[in-house]
Amino acid sequence: MSDLAQLRVWDDPAIRGALSWYFDVAENRRPAKFRIAATIATQLDPAASSEDALWAELDELTPIFLARWQAIRAGAPLLSAADGPSLLELCRELAYRMLTHCNFCPWDCRIDRVAGTKFGACKLAAGSRVSSHFHHTGEELFYRGTQGSGTIFFTSCNMRCAFCQNGDISTDKDNGVETNPRTLAAMAWTLRREGCHNINWVGGEVVIHLHSIVHAIALLGRNYAPTQGELAHARKTKADRFLSFDEMPGAAIYDGRFNSPMLWNSNFFMTLESMKILRILTDVWLPDFKFGPGRCAMTLAKTPWYWETVTRNIALLDEWGRNFPSAIW
Ligand code: SF4
Repeated sequence: MSDLAQLRVWDDPAIRGALSWYFDVAENRRPAKFRIAATIATQLDPAASSEDALWAELDELTPIFLARWQAIRAGAPLLSAADGPSLLELCRELAYRMLTHCNFCPWDCRIDRVAGTKFGACKLAAGSRVSSHFHHTGEELFYRGTQGSGTIFFTSCNMRCAFCQNGDISTDKDNGVETNPRTLAAMAWTLRREGCHNINWVGGEVVIHLHSIVHAIALLGRNYAPTQGELAHARKTKADRFLSFDEMPGAAIYDGRFNSPMLWNSNFFMTLESMKILRILTDVWLPDFKFGPGRCAMTLAKTPWYWETVTRNIALLDEWGRNFPSAIW
């Protein structure tokens, strides 16, 4: 039995039941959802298709994905990854299309972040910066476990909370080091092989980096192995790089390939489109629910549409979870 499995928190049937999918993936008894997405082929050429066609394809493939996920939860084996483009690459392409008229979150700025000549509420162009990444021992017990949660902190945010506990990185878009999807994948790859129980995407806010994160996850689902240069680049922001961690490649493997639960640690101020992509890739959600329906979100965080957006997204998780008991939380 692993040291995560030995935690007494799992003796609580409510926690055990609610987090069963996360726990099974963390223990490599099941493949993460991104591994399942890689098995679902698309007949479209993502790069050559219109965005409307890509969304229609996502809508068509999502029930197939969910059925396959359900079968795997019931014990079916993981099929081979598709030779050509899969649901994984479809999600990546959609995130990059959104970036050109950014609607990752309800600010709906509609600016072309690839061109980078105008900026929205998050103040970002196409680049993503990481402030730090490390074995986080301060998360909830089932996430930090004994080896830590493999946490990657991104800079900037789409809210302006007066009480932000990460204000140094959420208000300073230039904090940290510019990274790219391959380096992000190297961070995740290293943390998981060092024994972290999950990869914890957090900020600032993460949805404003949706394209970079989805791209990194797509790499991890496709036989990614980092180069020495990528490992060296990633190491620049590894806050615990002066500590020694034993490499445990077996702790990051399902059926011979990289495996890890993906944890979406977010303010949940994001659009339905972002949620639809994340539904395919997220193994466990960690919504940071801050305000009720009054004016607090405007007064304290300068954020309109907060209540209706976040409650809509959490209700969606509830609906998705009801269809797949114990699968989401
Ligand atoms: S992530 Fe949100 S705030 Fe940033 S440009 Fe896109 S829609 Fe605007």
